[in-house]
Amino acid sequence: MNNLIDSHVNFGHESLKSSVSDICKKALENNIERILSINSNIYEFQKDLDLVKGFDFVDISIGHHPNNTSNISTREIESILIENINKFEDKIVGIGETGLDYHYEVPKNRQIESFETHLDVATNFKLPCIIHMRDAEKDMINILEKYHKKLDKILIHCFTGSKEFAKKCIDLNCYFSLSGIITFKNADKLRDIIKILPIERVIFETDSPYLTPDPFRGKINNPLYLKIILEKYCEITGNNFAKICKISTNNYKKLFKINV
Ligand SMILES: [Zn+2]
Repeated sequence: MNNLIDSHVNFGHESLKSSVSDICKKALENNIERILSINSNIYEFQKDLDLVKGFDFVDISIGHHPNNTSNISTREIESILIENINKFEDKIVGIGETGLDYHYEVPKNRQIESFETHLDVATNFKLPCIIHMRDAEKDMINILEKYHKKLDKILIHCFTGSKEFAKKCIDLNCYFSLSGIITFKNADKLRDIIKILPIERVIFETDSPYLTPDPFRGKINNPLYLKIILEKYCEITGNNFAKICKISTNNYKKLFKINV
């Protein structure tokens, strides 16, 4: 049996939140060994936590997505993070998602302040960081260079970006999470770049309900589609499916300190 782990599911999303238990049951029946439920709005953390109550195979993160940082102070981010990490230390495995997204209009300085606040908290609690990066390679590298030595571990989620960015992240000991984007027809460049990622630092995610892999684009994504992403990775890199399942599952457990 080949067990898989979905390292990024947005259960709090409108299109998923009413079917969480159904999705979790089906995932378990289909060899999904663990799921990481991602919190991207710290005001919703308690709700996200309640959604996965009773599902011990679901881990949870806490963080405020860069696109949500327009109207929140760093002091507030810090206090909500710390309060919940202290309260739910058994369930919270990482900080995020946080990061930088210059694709939309959210002011850069707000995003940077929020991101660095997350990194400070992650450093103090020795927790890995789940990072979102879109159109912000230069600032991302500058900040990670400043932090990487003191940080626990860094995960670049839903990896996209240039080969130079990938190389820099490899040097900074980052982990990489690959999503359904690697199956998209227009993603030849990304498929080429991911060949250089060290296999011991690669994990996989659906980013459900977003980024549904080919040939199911247009449908709502869910953890059962994870298999397609791994199969594509194997096809691109010439690896065996069972081997990649095993390695990526171990990588996830190492990254998030899961001892089961
Ligand atoms: Zn993201």
